[in-house]
Amino acid sequence: MIPIRPHILKMQPYSPGKPISEVKRELGLQEVVKLASNENPFGPSPRAVEAVRAAASDLHLYPDAAAYELRTRLSERFGVPFEQIVVGNGSDELIHLLGLALLGDPEDEVIVGHPSFVRYDAAAHLAPCKLVSVPLGEDLRFDLAAMAAAVTPRTKMLFIANPNNPTGTVVRKAELDALVSTLPPQVTLVLDEAYFEFAEHLPEFPNSVDYLRAGKNVIGLRTFSKAYGLAGVRLGYGFAPAALTDAIHRIREPFNVNSLALVAGVAALEDGEHVRKTVENNRRGQSRLAGAFEAHGAKPYESFANFVFADLGRPAQPVFRALLNRGVIARSGEVFGRPTCLRVSIGTEAETDRFIEAFDAAMRETAAPSEARS
Ligand code: PMP
Repeated sequence: MIPIRPHILKMQPYSPGKPISEVKRELGLQEVVKLASNENPFGPSPRAVEAVRAAASDLHLYPDAAAYELRTRLSERFGVPFEQIVVGNGSDELIHLLGLALLGDPEDEVIVGHPSFVRYDAAAHLAPCKLVSVPLGEDLRFDLAAMAAAVTPRTKMLFIANPNNPTGTVVRKAELDALVSTLPPQVTLVLDEAYFEFAEHLPEFPNSVDYLRAGKNVIGLRTFSKAYGLAGVRLGYGFAPAALTDAIHRIREPFNVNSLALVAGVAALEDGEHVRKTVENNRRGQSRLAGAFEAHGAKPYESFANFVFADLGRPAQPVFRALLNRGVIARSGEVFGRPTCLRVSIGTEAETDRFIEAFDAAMRETAAPSEARS
């Protein structure tokens, strides 16, 4: 018997979207579209690709452990002091490191919304400590009043994904201000802004940097995986009070961000055009997908991210399978505790066409007999 720590055996391994190669192999399909992991449909920023090529000849050297150039550029771009910036192997790693830095007592409490991003739960389970899961409210938006009411003297962290994954919904500035004003100083508010670039045009969209400047115990998490198209090299960053960035520097691996990610990030930050194109395409895709769901009587939730979450009003798993048989990988809602929902990432125009065609057929094929007749 290998003495694995018992609470670790209670943790679920992360369940990623199905890879394209696996679907091709299993179903014998030639062309498969993956709309399951909220990746950038235009690929990486071309400038980042160029920078990675140029950096390949230096792969024998360790990366810059301080990420000096990237953090300097992030500091200039977002107006956050250098020492308040941390970078990680994806924002996933920063969530993990925050758990290590802040949780340690089994009586500690972590508040999350449900459904939301599952890696927050993992940080609490790993500690291990108490996970307080507050159901989303009306229209699958965070119920901030209920989350505020869940805070106790043992609460250490409160996670808000804004926009939220898997729902795509956002928390507005006025309601977040109200929450922040009630939080005791020992509660670190983690504002996960992985989909920030897709929502920042919204006038009432709050920005973690403002709370940081106001001296709040807040960390804003962002990523290069979505709007910048760099999910494969793993690069995320965070803005936090210096006491928190200092703690993360003490516990992180010295070379947590690899040298290709460092140069890719610097180059992608300069590539405003790629982000603009991605965000524009995303807005068109959001409304096309919403229309496709509504045409079948499904309810799409208002999304400000690069995916749309919709309640089909019937089990989504058969629809997910029927889509898969047509070479379209989406995400069925079971993993999010919403078995009648489907999450679909926004692709290129052509991929959206392909999804809509497959979805129409999948809904017809899987309709209950009474539905099919009407
Ligand atoms: N937060 C949210 C809300 C996400 O949806 C994701 C990506 N699935 C992440 C964090 C992790 O992103 P990264 O690729 O930077 O680890």
